[in-house]
Amino acid sequence: MSETISGASSCLCGSVKITAKKINPNFTVCHCETCRTWGGAPFFAVQCGTDVKITGNEKVKTYKSSPWASRGFCSDCGTHLFYQLDKTGEYNMPVGIFSDLKGLAMDMQYFSDQRPSYYCFSNETKEMTKAEIESYFSSLA
Ligand SMILES: [Zn+2]
Ligand SMILES: [Zn+2]
Repeated sequence: MSETISGASSCLCGSVKITAKKINPNFTVCHCETCRTWGGAPFFAVQCGTDVKITGNEKVKTYKSSPWASRGFCSDCGTHLFYQLDKTGEYNMPVGIFSDLKGLAMDMQYFSDQRPSYYCFSNETKEMTKAEIESYFSSLA
């Protein structure tokens, strides 16, 4: 992984606070239907690894959105907090919950073939289609 940065964030109501020590500033945008349904728009996700501290855990509700991952949100204010891989415990967090990250770059777009036609980013990024993602992740398993 390239150089990481650290960041702190809080949900809208302040019940949940998150500190992530090793954030990859090269973030991913996911266009898949689950992400768009979850957030109403594509998911801008920074990889935070497992070096993550969450306070106010009793307010965090998780939803198992696929056989391999769960999504967490604040049960008081609804702020989306993370997408977590079950197997490794690695967190992907919405880039927008961190207010002060430096050096961010949109690096990758997942499920590029599922992006609806009503928006398009001009950022030049790598892209992976659904088929490419499935074959990549099954090769890791
Ligand atoms: Zn909250
Ligand atoms: Zn997605």
